[in-house]
Amino acid sequence: MQNDTLKIGILEGDDIGHEVVPETIKVMRRAAEITGLSVAWEPVPIGKRALDTLGFTLPPDTLERLEALDGWVLGPIGHQAYPKVKETVNPHPILRKHFDLFANIRPVRSYPGIPSVHQNVDLVIVRENNEGFQPDRNVVAGSGEFRPTNDVTISVRVITRNGSSKVAREAFELARSRKKQLTVVHKDTVFKLGCGMFVEECKRIAQEYPDVQMQEAIVDTFAMRLVMTPQKYDVVVTTNMFGDILTDEAAGLVGGLGLAPGLCAGPRHAMAQATHGSAPDIAGKNIANPYAMIMSGQMLLDWLGRKHNSAQALQAAALIENSVDTVMQERKFLTGDLGGTAKTSEMGDAIVLAMG
Ligand code: ATP
Repeated sequence: MQNDTLKIGILEGDDIGHEVVPETIKVMRRAAEITGLSVAWEPVPIGKRALDTLGFTLPPDTLERLEALDGWVLGPIGHQAYPKVKETVNPHPILRKHFDLFANIRPVRSYPGIPSVHQNVDLVIVRENNEGFQPDRNVVAGSGEFRPTNDVTISVRVITRNGSSKVAREAFELARSRKKQLTVVHKDTVFKLGCGMFVEECKRIAQEYPDVQMQEAIVDTFAMRLVMTPQKYDVVVTTNMFGDILTDEAAGLVGGLGLAPGLCAGPRHAMAQATHGSAPDIAGKNIANPYAMIMSGQMLLDWLGRKHNSAQALQAAALIENSVDTVMQERKFLTGDLGGTAKTSEMGDAIVLAMG
């Protein structure tokens, strides 16, 4: 096992990003210290603060700086509030595309005692990240949505064999490390070519994973079953827009967006990015739930551990997971959305303390 120094970027993002990202780094630093994992941390300006100080929400040298890193933690981006000028791009679709972060891995877990529609939920949705219907990332130039006349709008959906097979393989790998059960969610009854190609690729990759049981589900039926019996699912893989909707729906079943971590993974880099937005309504009050961001950081360490064959990174990830579990079970230091009264930083402190 190697113990090379991992290079991890810190990109706070906007609004509650300035609160939940520092808590995440605090927790990751402590886990690295305990396990002897060597990390070079590199703060990289992005978002509104970068606009104010450097004149861009995505400063020109950002991609080059990130290229040299192994992974990074990206806080939520509040791009809706950016002034509408050319210097204010929404950075995260650009990062996802540039670094080919093709898989968006989003776990959904319920915790006993945390207000939740369902208990005993433990599933992971793997969402294709760079194609599908999202017009800001399914083309390299221009937009996948356009208006040829005042009365007509056309939205293009892009599905490729390459994108589909890559995300399918990521999902099969994950399924293999869990309960060996994968649900492919699509609607090939209507999108015969687009979803049809996605399913074909999933079936092709399935041949390499005979130990994983693959089943298919039509997206509308799946949306209903997810609400009724989420306990029946383990790993789910789907296209971009379906995944966008289903991951928020799934988060709602177990306590909301504060409990929805995520990792965008590519061939050489990964980006910890929680599902939630920048929540300007609660920013600056030290009340945002840091769970989703901290567990996204945990996923990054786990991914880096596997990628770099680093026992220390894997141990650091396991340590964070156990400490978060302890704090969630003790229910003494939880933020308001989880029924507690703790501040963001108090919940972060409790997780650090739980590491021993
Ligand atoms: P985006 O479109 O950028 O994803 P959104 O419209 O989904 O953003 P969010 O910013 O995620 O909106 O916020 C939705 C609601 O969830 C808000 O009321 C917000 O306060 C709440 N929320 C989001 N994240 C958290 C968190 N970490 N802790 C507590 N509440 C949160």
